[in-house]
Amino acid sequence: MVGCGSIGQAILPLLFKHLAISPKQLTIIEADKRGVKVAARYKVKHQVCALTKDNYEKEIRKRVNLGDFLLNLSVDTSSADIMELCHELGVLYLDTVAEPWAGFYTDSRLNAEQRSNYALREGILALKRKHKEGPTAVSCMGANPGLVSSFIKQALLNIARDTGVKTEKPKNRDEWARLAQKLGIKVIHVAERDTQVSPKPKEVGEFVNTWSIDGFVSEGGQPAEMGWGTHEKALPPDGSEHTFGCMAAIYLNRPGFSTRVRTWTPGEGPFHGFIITHNESISTSDYFSIVEDGKVIYRPTAHYAYHPCDAAVLSLHEMAGKNGQQQKRQRLIVDEITAGNDELGVLLMGHKKTSYWFGSDLSIQETRKLVPYNNATSLQVAVAALAGLMYAIENPSLGIIEAEDLDHDFVLKISKPYLGKLHGKYSDWTPLQDRAKLFPEDLDTSDPWQFKNFRVN
Ligand code: NAD
Repeated sequence: MVGCGSIGQAILPLLFKHLAISPKQLTIIEADKRGVKVAARYKVKHQVCALTKDNYEKEIRKRVNLGDFLLNLSVDTSSADIMELCHELGVLYLDTVAEPWAGFYTDSRLNAEQRSNYALREGILALKRKHKEGPTAVSCMGANPGLVSSFIKQALLNIARDTGVKTEKPKNRDEWARLAQKLGIKVIHVAERDTQVSPKPKEVGEFVNTWSIDGFVSEGGQPAEMGWGTHEKALPPDGSEHTFGCMAAIYLNRPGFSTRVRTWTPGEGPFHGFIITHNESISTSDYFSIVEDGKVIYRPTAHYAYHPCDAAVLSLHEMAGKNGQQQKRQRLIVDEITAGNDELGVLLMGHKKTSYWFGSDLSIQETRKLVPYNNATSLQVAVAALAGLMYAIENPSLGIIEAEDLDHDFVLKISKPYLGKLHGKYSDWTPLQDRAKLFPEDLDTSDPWQFKNFRVN
């Protein structure tokens, strides 16, 4: 296992509960000592070893053999490079994000397109084309990206059931896309509201969050990105199309940490979420595209709409005011959380019943009863990675796969016991709600599902 921060520590108890392995079979390497205590509790070997572009081959070759599994839960290590090495060594692989080597996110020689998640995903897709077969390597299988792809499929089946559309479980990508089209899905948000709180307020000059602060700052500083639906009438004024690749997404020439949209979850109701770029924004729109005679005839808009814990919103606000300069101090809150939930799901919009959210509502109290060393956020990620890992072990020769390629029933069966209340809720919410009377000139009232109606700034 590479990395033992919030997610690495969160998954350790689950690995020993669900896999028939002994501590001797697992080695953890990470750049520092943050996972030492939890590793010792599970009697797992822990080594401090920061992987770099220059040393990763040597360090990984030393530690893994044919038939092993490399679980990559670190920041600042290249998913593509490590994945390719695992391919060569006959080693199964999983990560929760398509991560680059350190320095990529802040490299001023790269333009916005080159620093996008779109570009990182294209790197993984190029590898997939190069190595058509081989040991299974699961790309981007955490909560989101990851688990939410299974939520979308379950949500589609639920909407079909509730709107009288007869369907069997689709068997492949084209059938899933045609089901989404038939139901009239125009926009998909990964709508998340994290309400976990610590009694200790955020201090000036400190970044507080419920998961990786470095990871969040990195992705928040990338351009805001969204899968771009065929119903959209116009590109946003600050939007750009890509010059290469699958063409399923666009990006804005501004960072996600200062770009907000209107969204909705059952617990919170309407709220503003940040369009933090994520792999699933692109892979969802790509997966649900229907192409006929070389022309895309259907594709939903898809992106993340994230309200992190309130202390993280304040931290982002402070960081944005310093033009993205990260605070020197960080506080990852786990044990000190006293209340709150992570409500993480997918909001499918545009169908007969308007909007439907499906996902996990997990409280900190329930999390603590379920698995130690977790908060609600990390458990949603850890259990999804566990499901991906078990899927790879059961299907060891699939080559490189994305979260959409996993059987969603398998993923939901493994993860459900750890997701708190896993449920769906319909709503008549649209981004025009309560606004048409106040600011009609900003809106396209002829189609509520236009991106410009969602956008706050
Ligand atoms: P964290 O910041 O808590 O921990 C990061 C870990 O990476 C630490 O153990 C650190 O020592 C290690 N590390 C840093 N540089 C390294 C290097 N060069 N070589 C080896 N190890 C190195 O992060 P986290 O919250 O545990 O997140 C881990 C990863 O999972 C991040 O990439 C994050 O973006 C991703 N993530 C994905 C999801 C999802 O839902 N898909 C959710 C949360 C986190």
